[in-house]
Amino acid sequence: MQYYSLENKKNITGFKQAVLKGLADDRGLYFPKAITPLPKNFIKNIADYSNQEIAFLAIRQFIGDGFTDDILQEIINETLCFDFPTVKISKNIYALELFHGPTMAFKDVGARFMARCLGQINKNSDHKTTVLVATSGDTGGAVASGFLGVKNVDVVILYPSKKVSEVQEKQLTTLGENITALEVNGTFDDCQAMVKKAFLDKEIIEKRNLTSANSINIARWLPQMFYYFFAFKQLINHYKEMIFSVPSGNFGNICAGILAKKLGLPIKHFIAATNVNDVVPEYLLSQIYKPKPSIQTISNAMDVGNPSNFVRIQELYNGDWEMLKKELSGFAFTDDETKNSMKKLYTAYKYIADPHGAVGYLGLQQYGLKENEIGVFLETAHPVKFLDVVTPVIGKEIDFPPQIAKIIDKEKKAITIKNYEALKSFLFN
Ligand SMILES: *Cc1c(COP(=O)(O)O)cnc(C)c1O
Repeated sequence: MQYYSLENKKNITGFKQAVLKGLADDRGLYFPKAITPLPKNFIKNIADYSNQEIAFLAIRQFIGDGFTDDILQEIINETLCFDFPTVKISKNIYALELFHGPTMAFKDVGARFMARCLGQINKNSDHKTTVLVATSGDTGGAVASGFLGVKNVDVVILYPSKKVSEVQEKQLTTLGENITALEVNGTFDDCQAMVKKAFLDKEIIEKRNLTSANSINIARWLPQMFYYFFAFKQLINHYKEMIFSVPSGNFGNICAGILAKKLGLPIKHFIAATNVNDVVPEYLLSQIYKPKPSIQTISNAMDVGNPSNFVRIQELYNGDWEMLKKELSGFAFTDDETKNSMKKLYTAYKYIADPHGAVGYLGLQQYGLKENEIGVFLETAHPVKFLDVVTPVIGKEIDFPPQIAKIIDKEKKAITIKNYEALKSFLFN
């Protein structure tokens, strides 16, 4: 499969190169040259397939001759070592729980898939790759866990000091081996700015093969389409018309859902549910796309003022706003509304949602499901990752699941850095 740059469609590369580079040289995101719908019989009989088989069939065409069937299946089997249950909330509403992986955030799938792709690509060479990421919390943990022990890959994670939750910090800083956490005296935006600067710094890129591990990278973006197939498989017998509400920040997840629809999954409508960082809901109303500085909220993995995957969504609809509006609604919610949503889910349905899932639930409420529709909201993180928000709202302590209990008493190891020069000298050594 070939990928073109969204900055210049003549700029083309294969799967492996696109994974290694992350972004094209012209700074455009990569996009698959062709999207071929899957056989109708496969979709109809999806309940007969295992998750691993479904994932293989869904992503096969996007890998092309990048990997053999055997290697691709092995990557998928190692990636999907946990469940993706749908939980019934009310008559026509389900939560799709994406948090049963090692770091209890949905980003585990993309991070594990990408790590194994890089591991395979580097396997028989001494090509060394440095994955450099900035995190506001969830990405860092998933990337650290996904890449732990992968040969010829070093991971460097920048996170804002005292601005990630305790659980998230432990997930970033306790693994060791090929994972280094850099604690930055500053905000997430500062971390992001340093990472961006490093990618453009000739002195650094001469010395190190840098790649990013956010949803800009096709190997992190594409496997997110699996979730929608897994939900459909579980709900096919209740099947009415299916609506997905996706808590969105950089819009990688929902964009992969739209790709799943292009592959033939019968999804009627998508809802992009955001916090007050509402650039896309605004665009759907006004047709004007206006990036803004991000605003801090309690659903902080969605505090994004200029969603990087928006250009891919545009591409999926050929920039046709009317068409996009038919298939995608966007709604934005305040922190107070999010807390009320968490409270309602708990008191009315005994369901403990994290702030992101609660925003997804609000999206379904605002959309207003019709008689013949079922709504699925994506629960993108376990509530334990946002304890300081969730506990006071529901008035109840949450037990640590085993994945978290295992690391919470481990010793934090991080290097404090103050500025870009400190990052640079770290990367030189
Ligand atoms: C990253 C993240 C999101 C946002 O996903 P995007 O693909 O960036 O839109 C939502 N919820 C949680 C918990 C996340 O970690």
